[in-house]
Amino acid sequence: MEQIGLYTIAFKGLKNGEHTFDFQVDNKLFDAFETEEIKGGDCNVRANLVRSESMLELNITIEGEVICECDRCLEDCPIAIDYEGDLVVKFSDETDYYDGDVMWISPADDVVDLTQYIYESIVLSLPYSRVHEEGECNPEMLASFTEISEEELEKLEAQAEESDVVGLDDYNKSVLEALKDQMERNK
Ligand SMILES: [Zn+2]
Repeated sequence: MEQIGLYTIAFKGLKNGEHTFDFQVDNKLFDAFETEEIKGGDCNVRANLVRSESMLELNITIEGEVICECDRCLEDCPIAIDYEGDLVVKFSDETDYYDGDVMWISPADDVVDLTQYIYESIVLSLPYSRVHEEGECNPEMLASFTEISEEELEKLEAQAEESDVVGLDDYNKSVLEALKDQMERNK
């Protein structure tokens, strides 16, 4: 397993029993993995560790938000992260196997590196669909993806005029405005 070392726990000096560690995840993590999926973020990580002779048992929570590209308007979109999971760290000279739930490290190691675990946990907790809340997308961007004919625009405008009746909200009005501007520019 690649050691990146941004978030590590020096466990050698710890007594058997429970210990708590806090980490602040920021853009450094996403830069380190060169991910295009996540542009940045800000999360609090808490690791509750139970040390025994033969292993370390960790319960890890990650809370905060990361910035992804909105699937709908392609602008930056904050996505809430709320993760909880368990990781067991065992010791062996034979293997450095790691599967996301169990990590084997050498008995000679002084630290356990949680960087990859934290990164993967954030990526796995991303929702399938990453979009702004309803009405938060950039209207100009939305309009620029929409091919619309003169006729359709007139229909929309007519609808907008009756908007008090049909309930076209301010957000949809702003999308319509952006569409009109775009048609003007394209003439
Ligand atoms: Zn959006």
